Amino acid sequence: MKKLPFVTKEQLQEIVKTYPTPFHLYDEKGIRENAKAVKEAFSWNPGYREYFAVKALPNPFILKIFQEYGFGCDCASTTELMLADALGFEPDQIMFSSNDTPASEYKLASEVNAVVNFDDITHISFFEKIAGKFPETVCCRYNPGGVYEISNGIMDNPGDSKYGMTKAQLFQAFKILKNKGVKHFGIHSFLVSNTVTNDYYPTLARTLFELAVELKNEVGVHISFINLSGGVGIAYRPDQTPNDIRKIGEGVHKAYDDILTPAGMGDVSIYTEMGRFMTGPYGCLVTTAIHEKNIYKNYIGVDACAVDLMRPAMYGAYHHITVMGKEDQECDHLYDITGSLCENNDKFAIDRMLPKIDLGDLLVIHDTGAHGYSMGYNYNGKLKSKELLLKEDGSVQLIRRAETPKDYFATFDCFDILKNMR
Ligand SMILES: *Cc1c(COP(=O)(O)O)cnc(C)c1O
Repeated sequence: MKKLPFVTKEQLQEIVKTYPTPFHLYDEKGIRENAKAVKEAFSWNPGYREYFAVKALPNPFILKIFQEYGFGCDCASTTELMLADALGFEPDQIMFSSNDTPASEYKLASEVNAVVNFDDITHISFFEKIAGKFPETVCCRYNPGGVYEISNGIMDNPGDSKYGMTKAQLFQAFKILKNKGVKHFGIHSFLVSNTVTNDYYPTLARTLFELAVELKNEVGVHISFINLSGGVGIAYRPDQTPNDIRKIGEGVHKAYDDILTPAGMGDVSIYTEMGRFMTGPYGCLVTTAIHEKNIYKNYIGVDACAVDLMRPAMYGAYHHITVMGKEDQECDHLYDITGSLCENNDKFAIDRMLPKIDLGDLLVIHDTGAHGYSMGYNYNGKLKSKELLLKEDGSVQLIRRAETPKDYFATFDCFDILKNMR
């Protein structure tokens, strides 16, 4: 399938007059339509809630949009908790799915009354020392170990992952928490990232539903929710078929009717913590070709770099690229598309067939709406670019300004260095 950007060249030419490249641009219409589809797909479950994984796109303007749909926030750090709390999310709308958690973060989670999702059995006593008590509802994270297979083969290797508790630990944890007076319980598990199949959630749901029935019968606890976490992927590549959230919702519904309802557990709420699926396709990085260099390979240098989008450098991740205005031209030139970091992995594409690129061409790097801006760093002292929202009415709003040198040097405030800056 041909992948086309959600903006036109003409729109971008207008936008760059006010906001020069590079920038991330987000599509409000796409985000809203998808949010509505997610809500509908799980509307069979009265308690359903999506807790948007804040780390995917930690921008208050985006979180505010999700708030309108009744969604919550999935947080795992001090600043993510602060953001959710400041935006007025209710305590039951804040899920704290952390791991290797510092005491200060559990303290804050307890203060904002977030739903705490324990990653490890040892965290229970660690938390109790800090908070002095437990909330009425507590969640524990499960790791089944081994390899995780669904109908089309092995998906990933939970046995190698640092997250969650073993089954024996999970049962023990629920017993301890029950004795401590916790009344309602949740189970959480995140086994595979970026799954491009409609089978992942339904398969995971079956695993967790069966576990929930066992826990209820053997430990005698009330399971109030099952959190399927994240992992629903997007079609980064043009040859991939995007997930169908309606089919995913139906698959989970069927598992629910097969396992939970007959066990007298028809009151269990389904939660999700999707990040990538909620915003990934509805963001792009817009950059300008500023150099062409021909040595042993042909390079196009752009004005964005891995600071703006780290996934290709970090995982060799594929991000589709459209040369604006050349959508229908033949891809008959072989390029590496590079950023300016002194680091040879700063390449948005390697050996990519694209139309002939001229200096000044606008390039759209697709699917940067999740784990894009937020994963950026400041290597080489390069500053992070701005974030823009393309609103439903076609206007554009600056939702985060670009970093300035002053931001970068702010943490040296004790050394008076700022005084000597030109
Ligand atoms: C990262 C993360 C998510 C979101 O994952 P996606 O792959 O973006 O959907 C959800 N829950 C937890 C605990 C995470 O760490």
